Amino acid sequence: MTKALPRVLIDRFQRRVDYVRLSVTDRCDFRCVYCMAEDMTFAPKPHILSLEEIHEVARAFVELGVGKIRLTGGEPLIRNNILSLIKPLGQLPGLDQLAITSNGSQLHRLAGSLRELGVKRVNISLDSLQPRRFRNLTRHGNLDQVIAGIDAAVAAGFERVRLNAVILKGRNSDEVLDLVNFALQRGIDIAFIEEMPLGLIDEHNRALSFCSSEELREIVSREHPLVPLGDPSGQDGPARYFRTGDAPTRIGFISPHSHNFCHLCNRVRVTAEGRLLLCLGNEHSVDLRAVLRAPDYTLDTLKRSIVNAMDIKPERHHFDLDETPDIVRFMNTTGG
Ligand code: SAM
Ligand code: SF4
Repeated sequence: MTKALPRVLIDRFQRRVDYVRLSVTDRCDFRCVYCMAEDMTFAPKPHILSLEEIHEVARAFVELGVGKIRLTGGEPLIRNNILSLIKPLGQLPGLDQLAITSNGSQLHRLAGSLRELGVKRVNISLDSLQPRRFRNLTRHGNLDQVIAGIDAAVAAGFERVRLNAVILKGRNSDEVLDLVNFALQRGIDIAFIEEMPLGLIDEHNRALSFCSSEELREIVSREHPLVPLGDPSGQDGPARYFRTGDAPTRIGFISPHSHNFCHLCNRVRVTAEGRLLLCLGNEHSVDLRAVLRAPDYTLDTLKRSIVNAMDIKPERHHFDLDETPDIVRFMNTTGG
């Protein structure tokens, strides 16, 4: 007899998986220096899951107790017809929180529709407030357009808007306070993310440019005394958050190197090609595209593959900036 499907996903280490990050495209209109090489080869289009397939994956996860989905990429908002995926996801029974991570380039035109269709939270990447430097770090980005996108997101009334900043020593490390002040002025959150060695890049030496969360916290504290809000939680992700004064802004630090948060990990990722990745820092994965495109496909077979995948979720990641990365995939394939 076939075993009944569980209602929730639990891995071998008794961690409940209730959060999925779905990459809807590996393509992007930017080429951020820490994320991509200048010349990138993207997956052939037929390898990328269709919007219907992505919806099916989301449905399977939600029926297995996942309450939070974040759409990411590449740049999720440059995927053709993305709103036609977001609309049904916003109405998926059982899905409590639909969120997006974006580089902000399209938000000036899409923020209002995203909010109306049920997106609750938006994370927007912003590494510099200096137009030339912003262009240099993103290789293609237009700062004014991204700031207009951030302001459109604030005006759209999302439950939460958070800026994400990756700080590289000697590149934008002198802008930490400016970025915090920018978030404070708008009453939105900001998180500083330590650079991770995902993919081989030769634009800079990741070990030399590394800025630890400790260093950044020290810089912020010089102007804004920080009050901790407790340890990271599954709900809020791996950031350690602080408040300053009575401002609504939370200032977070995501420290995959200096603070290992794997014991709290409640998430898995699905790449744009349908590979279910059990850990950002390991290659353990299951090919959901093969399941979706099998002649005998049913939602049940998809759910079973996801349940079985929980047995190979690794206990933790190991990142070493001085070693050649074990993980050759770039962040855009996984979506952060
Ligand atoms: N394009 C969207 C964006 O930039 O927000 C979504 C995808 S992007 C891969 C998601 C997040 O990953 C961004 O905040 C980006 O700054 C971060 N990121 C990319 N490469 C990284 C790396 N090597 N180390 C740390 N964070 C990285
Ligand atoms: Fe594109 Fe986001 Fe990667 Fe930058 S971080 S290249 S915006 S996917």
